[in-house]
Formats: sequence, C-alpha cells, structure tokens
Amino acid sequence: MGLYDRFTRLAKDREQFQTSGINPFGTCIDEIYSATEGRIGDQKIILAGTNNYLGLTFNAQAIAAGQAALAAQGTGTTGSRMANGSYGPHLQLEHEIAEFFDRPSSIVFSTGYTANLGVISALAVPGAVVLLDADSHASIYDACTLGGAEIIRFRHNDASDLERRMVRLGERARDAIIIVEGIYSMLGDVAPLAEIVDIKRRLGGYLIVDEAHSFGVLGKHGRGLAEEVGVEADVDIIVGTFSKSLAAIGGFAVGNKEMDVLRYASRPYIFTASPSPSSIASVRSSLKTIAQHPELREKLWSNAHRLYEGLKALGYELGPNISPVVPVVIGSKEEGLRFWRELISRSVYVNLVLPPAAPAGITLLRCSVNAAHSDEQIDTIIKVFADMKNQ
Ligand code: PMP
Repeated sequence: MGLYDRFTRLAKDREQFQTSGINPFGTCIDEIYSATEGRIGDQKIILAGTNNYLGLTFNAQAIAAGQAALAAQGTGTTGSRMANGSYGPHLQLEHEIAEFFDRPSSIVFSTGYTANLGVISALAVPGAVVLLDADSHASIYDACTLGGAEIIRFRHNDASDLERRMVRLGERARDAIIIVEGIYSMLGDVAPLAEIVDIKRRLGGYLIVDEAHSFGVLGKHGRGLAEEVGVEADVDIIVGTFSKSLAAIGGFAVGNKEMDVLRYASRPYIFTASPSPSSIASVRSSLKTIAQHPELREKLWSNAHRLYEGLKALGYELGPNISPVVPVVIGSKEEGLRFWRELISRSVYVNLVLPPAAPAGITLLRCSVNAAHSDEQIDTIIKVFADMKNQ
C-alpha cells in the first residue's frame, strides 16, 4: 500500500472544491489591512469570519509592546517552558491572568490547542472517566485520546443526558471529569452551565470549561461564561486561548494552586517551545485593554445583535441565539461553496464550514462580528446577503 493511498477519497473530495474558483480550505488572504478588512486576489473584503472578537489585532499599544519585546528579547525563546523557554514576562503574564480571573494560579501554554492537550491529557489518564459534550472541539477529543481515559459523550448542551450518564457511573461519578465549552464555535450557543454545576454539586466530579470563544465576550469583566452565570467557584479549571479575544497566539489554564503540578506531568507543556516574547508582550497589553475597556464588549454585542437581526429579517436560518458567531445554515455542501464564493466576489469573507466540522451534518456559513466592525460594515454584510436572496 502506498503511503498516501488511504487519503485517495479525501483528496478526490477536496479536488472537487479546487477545480473552479477560490479554495475554501486554506484560503489565502493576500493582504490584511485591519481587524475588519483585507484582500483576496483582486477583491477587497470585509472580514466577517474570524475569532478576533474584540478587534484587537491592530491595537496600537499591543503592536508597540510586541515590537519592543521583539527588539529586547529576540524572535523566539527556542525552548520549552520546562527548559529555557520561561522568561520573566511569561511568568508575569501567568500572574496577570490569575489576577484577572481572581484565581490562585495560571499556566501559559504555546497554543489553545496545547492548553487543552496539556491540561486534559495529564488528568484524563487510564482509569479516569471523562464526560464530554458531543460537539467538543477537536483539541478536547485529542487530549482525551492522548491521556487514555474512558470517554463518555453526552448530547450537545443536554444537561439531563449528562446527569443520566453520571448516575449510571455510580460511585465513579465522584471522580469523573466533565468538560464543556463556554460559547461553541460553530453555532454560537452556550453550555447550560448552571444546570451542569447543579449536577456536579449533587453527584460530584470535576468541571473543566474551555472559554476559548467566551473569554473577553461574556461576563462583567470578560472572564467568560462561568462569570456570566455566576458559577466560577464551581469550575475547577478554565482553559482559554490567546488566539481569539487576545488577538495573538498561545493558550492558558487557570485553577487552584494544586494545578501547578501539571507543569511537571504535562507532555504538551514540557515538549514544545514556549510562545515568543512578542506574543507574550502583545497578550499582556491586550489583557490590560480588555480589563480597562468594557465598552469593547458592548460594541461587540451591539454588532452581534445588528447582524443577527438583519439576517433573521431576511429569512435566513440562523443559530439558536444571538452571539458574536452568527451561523447561516445552507442546504448542501455544493450550495454552501457557491454561496461562499459569491459572498467573496461581493466583498464579504465568512467561514465555510462543512460536516464533520459543522455539527449534525449541516453546512454553515459561519459569520462572526467583532468590536471593530462599524455599523456601516455590518449593514454592508446584511445588504450582500439580501442581494444573494434576490438574485
Ligand atoms: N478550544 C476551542 C473551543 C477552540 O475553538 C479552539 C480553536 N478554534 C481551540 C481550543 C484551540 O485554540 P488555538 O487555535 O488557539 O490553538
């Protein structure tokens, strides 16, 4: 058998998307002008498919801080957190993240993916049992596989299904690890966290919440869904990323002092290089910006309402609730691709999401807004969707 024979079907599948027009898998954004604008080929586009929720990728202070760190500390650390890759600012950022969350401890990882891998794989070891929301991000699934625990999936956002499965575990439920996300990245819906916490209080277990898409977006201080729902004390570990509201790259976990032991037991912490000094510096700056400018969150939500209501009024089938992620459900893969290319030719970039990345076998045009979009840009996006209806 040839080395790549097993991919024949996948390659054929993908080819069909490449024959005519722009390829939706790995689209090249040829130039990026701001948090909301770029160019693909000859087409200037409004970026309406990113995770840049607070629009901070071009924040002047973050850029200045990143540039200064680059000049002072070099281009990379060339080592892992465990070896030579922990500089003073890495530790200062951990301290600042812990303070932001009002928690004793925080660990910085190289990406959000690695943060999940690092925390979960170290805890979800053979003999342990993990209860996962079925729509969990790939990094959560991969982390469980790496750890080797028993995985039990419960129906997406269905707390009673989780409870049934916890009850079935009997005594083992006391030590089970429950993992959910704050905002789910594809549908923009949120975990029923109050109900899940109630189950945990009654039946036991430990709770990990991945706030990748809800950090900076939900809660009075932007700490995420657990803050929004008022259950932070019931969450054992919060995992997050620097690649969305914090507008850089890297990841983190926050928890109690005991969590620090994971530094010595987590292969994805020990065996990969640490984030570069410029990323750490820009994240420290953006974390301050998030703390000092709650109006960014307000603008984000006002944009989310504007887009959701605009598209709803046009009759599009959307996600279940208003959120910065506004998924438009499209009938088939082929129609999704045609629609997606047409949107670009009319100056709007969104994410085309096909199954299995989209849940329940559906095809999505995943639109997302950020705090830097102007009302006019949101209205342009809505107008383009309106024109598509009428064509
Ligand atoms: N968790 C969730 C829920 C995510 O959606 C993502 C990325 N889309 C990650 C973790 C990984 O984050 P990163 O891209 O920063 O590695």
